Amino acid sequence: MTKKLVFLGMGGTIAGTAASAADNVGYRAAQVGVDQLLQAIPTLGTALGCHELVSEQVAQVDSKDMAFTHWKALALRVCHHLAQADVSGLVITHGTDTIEETAFFLSQVVPTALLASKAVVLACAMRPASSMSPDGPRNVLDAVALACTEGAKGVMVVCAGTIHTAQHVQKIHPYRLDAFDSGDAGPIGYVEEGVVRLTYPWPKTEDVRRPITLEKMAQAAWPRVEIVTSYVGASGAIVRALCSAPQGSEGPLRGLVVAGTGNGTIHADLDVALREAQAMGVKVVRSTRCAWGQIVPPSVLGDGFSHFEGLSPVKARIALILELLA
Ligand code: ASP
Repeated sequence: MTKKLVFLGMGGTIAGTAASAADNVGYRAAQVGVDQLLQAIPTLGTALGCHELVSEQVAQVDSKDMAFTHWKALALRVCHHLAQADVSGLVITHGTDTIEETAFFLSQVVPTALLASKAVVLACAMRPASSMSPDGPRNVLDAVALACTEGAKGVMVVCAGTIHTAQHVQKIHPYRLDAFDSGDAGPIGYVEEGVVRLTYPWPKTEDVRRPITLEKMAQAAWPRVEIVTSYVGASGAIVRALCSAPQGSEGPLRGLVVAGTGNGTIHADLDVALREAQAMGVKVVRSTRCAWGQIVPPSVLGDGFSHFEGLSPVKARIALILELLA
C-alpha cells in the first residue's frame, strides 16, 4: 500500500507575499495556496521518499485572525485524514502568531487513538514566501522529515530546525527566524539535515486531558472565555464591564482566565471583581503572566480559583473552553 503524507494549508506568513523580495515585514499573510507553496520546494519529492503527497486548503487566514470556525474545520479534517490506514502523518502550514494555540487545541481534541502512532506537525515561517531568503521551505522539509520519522506521534510544531510539543511551545520573538521556545521543558528535539534528533521521548498522547467528542466540538456556540491580566494599578473595571456588557453574537461570558503576576497572584482590586464574577456563575481560572515556569502550589490553593497545571494564559483559555463545552 502506498503511504500518504497529507498537507493541510491554513495560511500565515509562510503563504504570505510582499511587493518586494527585500521586504520581510510589510507583506500580506495567507496569499499563496498550499499546492503552489509545495510546488515551489524543489527537494520536496526527495524528502517525501515513497510517500504520496495529498494537499488540501482548509483555510487561508492570517493566524492573528484565526477563529473557532477555522479550528472546527481543521480538527474535522485532521481526524478524517488520520483515520485513513494509508495516511502516515500530517503537516499543517500555519501562521506563527497563534500556532501554539492551534497546536494545543488539536492535542486536546484529536482522539488519542488517532495520535497513538501518527504525528501532526505544524510548520510555519517568519518570512513571507516572496522573500529573497524565505524560511518556509526549510521548515516544511523539516516537518516532512519529522512526520515521516519512525515512531513519530502526537502534535508538534517545527520551526528553525527546532521541534516543540503542543504543550510547551510558545512564540517568544516577533522577528527572529527561531521565534519559538519551550520554556523549562526545552525543545523535544531538532531536525538536522533531514534527520530527527530527540532530546526526550515523543509526546505522551495518552496524557490528553480533555477528551471531547467531535460532535460536541463541532457544535455551533462555544462558551465565551476571556483573558484578563493583573498588573500595577489593575482594577476590576474590565471584569465588571465584561460581566455587564450586552450580549453579542459571542454569547454570555462563561469563563475568565487571569494572567496573574508571579506565582499567579492577583491585584486585590481585580480579585474583588473576579469573586463577583464567580458569584455570577463565571468560572475563573488562574494562570501566570510569567513566560517560563508554572504556578507552584500551595500558594494559590484553597482560595476558590483553580488553575491548569503548566498552561500559559492562552492555553488555559482553550482548556477552559473545552471543559465548559464538555
Ligand atoms: N501574522 C502572521 C500569522 O500568524 C505571522 C506569521 O505567520 O509569522 O499568520
